[in-house]
Amino acid sequence: MHINSERFFVEKESAVLLLFTGGTISMSEDPTTGALRPIDFDRLLDYMPELKQTGIKIKCIPFLPFIDSSDVHPEIWERLAKTIEENYNEFDGFVVLHGTDTMAYTASALSFMLENLSKPVIFTGAQLPIGMMRSDAKENMLTAIEIATAKESGQSIVPEVCIFFEDTLFRGNRTTKKNAEHFNAFNSYNYPPLAKAGVHIKYFRTYIHYPHSGTNMRVRTKIDPNVAILKLFPGITEHTVRAILNIPDLKAVVLESFGAGNAPRRQWFYDALREATDRGLIIVNKSQCSTGSVEMGRYETSLNLVTAGVMSGYDCTTEAIVTKLMHLLAEYPENDDIRHRLSISLCGEMTVI
Ligand code: ASP
Repeated sequence: MHINSERFFVEKESAVLLLFTGGTISMSEDPTTGALRPIDFDRLLDYMPELKQTGIKIKCIPFLPFIDSSDVHPEIWERLAKTIEENYNEFDGFVVLHGTDTMAYTASALSFMLENLSKPVIFTGAQLPIGMMRSDAKENMLTAIEIATAKESGQSIVPEVCIFFEDTLFRGNRTTKKNAEHFNAFNSYNYPPLAKAGVHIKYFRTYIHYPHSGTNMRVRTKIDPNVAILKLFPGITEHTVRAILNIPDLKAVVLESFGAGNAPRRQWFYDALREATDRGLIIVNKSQCSTGSVEMGRYETSLNLVTAGVMSGYDCTTEAIVTKLMHLLAEYPENDDIRHRLSISLCGEMTVI
């Protein structure tokens, strides 16, 4: 096998596990009605004869019935993580075919569930169904498979949970769906791409996260969904804020603030937050801006948040904070442990400043 930083050749004996959950990629147009419907899984190879020619051993596990990713729920995350765990030693990498709408949530969740990952888990999907002529499904799938098997000196080049779309490989927990129309559906606003696919696939290794050697992959699948998002807007009422902060069983809130993490300086707002954090509710500050980081204390309008016990989400995506909270709340019983893990990057999901 010959590899340098710009190109690689896949080993003949590589093996990839394809986990098929659904989404547009799994659909075809009904010739009579024109409506999109899930393809018959057994006919996948009819749509993708190229899969046979890759020279890579490919096993496919369909999660039937295929679903639109708006119906994805934490049990699917758990099933994906457990399937990867059960098959971890047999495959060089994993490709997850998933609808684009919530792909960034699933990829983020998996990045926290698969601790010390040393093999690629590459999510991809399509904006046009696999059965349509101009579909982006084949290219996305074939390149994702190639990336999942890329190795150097026996080690995976990208041992991370990633999203590959159009021509770019992103870290999954840094990614957001940005476009419902064009083929470049995703972006990673606060972290550079991990690879670009043109004639060759170029890997940007300085940005790739590598696990500590000698540590085994460990799967933690517990999820606590008692999380809410509170998005601020000028004129938001005390009633709305308190209604959200007092949701029964709620354990954590993502506060979507303005600019560099700013919020109104109303006394009632401060009191509502303070009372909530005093009761043990965890509140994480996430800017409504896609690019840049929360910087609490930079403006007077965020000083109050610090004294109210709100934590910084730095430059994390909403998808990553929500899934990190769900994961930490379920896995760690002590609030101090959760707060500590929220203040550090667990697998490259944020840059602490
Ligand atoms: N609604 C679809 C889904 O997320 C869209 C897609 O796959 O692109 O499942």
